[in-house]
Amino acid sequence: MNAPLNARIATHEVANQPPPLANYNAWSVDPILRATVAREGAGWIEKRATAMGETVGSERMRTLAELANRFTPQLRSHDRYGNRIDAVEFHPAYHELMGLAFGAGLHSVAWTAKEAGFAARAALNYLWNQGENGTSCPVTMTFACLAPLEHEPVLMREWAPKILAEDYDPRPRPLSEKRAVTIGMAMTEKQGGSDLRSNSTRAEPAGGGAYALTGHKWFCSAPMCDAFLTLARTDAGLTCFLVPRSLADGTRNVFLIQRLKDKLGNKSNASSEIEYNGTLGWRVGDEGRGIATIIEMAHLTRFDIVVANAGMMRGALNEAMHHTAHRSAFGRRLADQPLMKNVLADLALEWEAATLTAFRLARAFDRQASDRHEQLVCRLGVPVAKYWLCKRTPAVALEAMECLGGNGYVEEGALARLYREAPVNGIWEGSGNVICLDVLRAMEKSPDALDALLADIEPAAKAEPRLGRFVAELKRDLDDRATLEIRARRVVEKLALALQASLMVKHASPDAADAFCATRLDARTGAVFGTLPAAANLDAILRRAAFA
Ligand SMILES: Cc1cc2nc3c(=O)[nH]c(=O)nc-3n(C[C@H](O)[C@H](O)[C@H](O)COP(=O)(O)OP(=O)(O)OC[C@H]3O[C@@H](n4cnc5c(N)ncnc54)[C@H](O)[C@@H]3O)c2cc1C
Repeated sequence: MNAPLNARIATHEVANQPPPLANYNAWSVDPILRATVAREGAGWIEKRATAMGETVGSERMRTLAELANRFTPQLRSHDRYGNRIDAVEFHPAYHELMGLAFGAGLHSVAWTAKEAGFAARAALNYLWNQGENGTSCPVTMTFACLAPLEHEPVLMREWAPKILAEDYDPRPRPLSEKRAVTIGMAMTEKQGGSDLRSNSTRAEPAGGGAYALTGHKWFCSAPMCDAFLTLARTDAGLTCFLVPRSLADGTRNVFLIQRLKDKLGNKSNASSEIEYNGTLGWRVGDEGRGIATIIEMAHLTRFDIVVANAGMMRGALNEAMHHTAHRSAFGRRLADQPLMKNVLADLALEWEAATLTAFRLARAFDRQASDRHEQLVCRLGVPVAKYWLCKRTPAVALEAMECLGGNGYVEEGALARLYREAPVNGIWEGSGNVICLDVLRAMEKSPDALDALLADIEPAAKAEPRLGRFVAELKRDLDDRATLEIRARRVVEKLALALQASLMVKHASPDAADAFCATRLDARTGAVFGTLPAAANLDAILRRAAFA
């Protein structure tokens, strides 16, 4: 029936448009990822990563991501009889995505693996973030909550098995009835998100080890999680609590969802404003040590954001490389135009450096329990990388989008969504300035951390004179303590670039390392992508980044 009508109305043939980018394996087509994961001792994740790569590269995943972000979560504060239910309804695509992510152990592999669990899980997380990002929020929080929970053996015994379960059970039921649970975190209040010392929510002993919490939280993402780590003030000061949404007797805890935020991006993920009113919570960590307790979770979520950024860059690069390989202008494929090659090669350098950084930190997490050097690299490297990659990903998304021309700006494609998503990682879990100040704090409290990071960079700095000069300048920058705070962004940027350059020298091709050092360590080069010098071996860099 369709063909005759098409023939009658046809005014033109569709030409010079790329085939859909789908049905490829995001793991198999990424040799740098596979080599990096193997080098960090997590080659054993191959089977799971292949399955995840298949999922992420599938047409189905594309459709789910588009639907879950187009049909956004809706608050159902009351049922039709006027009873409060404080529920959020999601499109079925969101639940399917959550099932795929949690079913694959995206939240749990770091804790359940026998070796290199953080590197193995980072591989899955890097892949997932090429496909959909809103679901990463509950995944990351569920992964990270175990660090503070470990302080409370009783809670840990009750909750950990269902936190670690490779399953997704969205039913609002008490813990005992659930196959698996998800966990969120609620800290930010109206009067302050960075300065958590301003939190005003109160907690009073309520008997049986419980506390009754009263107050509000201004941002609380994924409010359909089964429990939240939250901060409230006792007489001893700010304290961390676990607040379940359902109580053991089957009743719902008081968890009043006031509104859902209408956000720039991150649309599939619900972010809410909530109120506690006599809400029951159980203490996690010592009274008065709330910030120190919950910051252990934030350290892990910051690491996860580093990995997510590397994955998002790979996703953006894939889109740009695919489009330009199939689109021609002025008689030549875009991918063969010298200036487009410069843009793509420059993006490829940024992605490779981000990937190497993410997995260097994964190794630090995997080894820090028995290796002081790795512990120090972890402490300083995470905020350094979190700051810098969060600044670079929006720029990468923007430039990749431009490679697609008008198609890039249209919501049916993945890049418009990625572009709107990109800034959020720089805001939550410590905004840029706050993260830079955390780097200064880490250097102040444990000067060994800076020595450890510099020791990591040192061998490459000896082999690559440009890096050697850059590190010498960085050390001079760090010597002037009096003005360090006002210069913190530039100093942290330089720390990140030195670390990235050292990793490129160690692990990337000589062409890629050379172009990275020529452009990232030299202040005279351009501020935008596509400004590699004419001498850079663009073809070699692009061959390395090629996919499919
Ligand atoms: C989509 C989304 C979801 C979120 N989900 C959650 C959630 O689930 N749970 C949760 O607890 N929070 C959540 N947040 C909140 C987020 O963590 C905070 O917005 C963030 O911590 C910043 O706090 P704020 O908004 O109060 O800004 P402020 O703390 O007021 O900061 C504003 C700006 O000032 C800067 N600044 C702060 N202190 C200094 C200083 N000393 N020197 C220089 N600059 C400074 C910051 O870097 C920032 O740029 C979410 C936010 C977003 C956007």
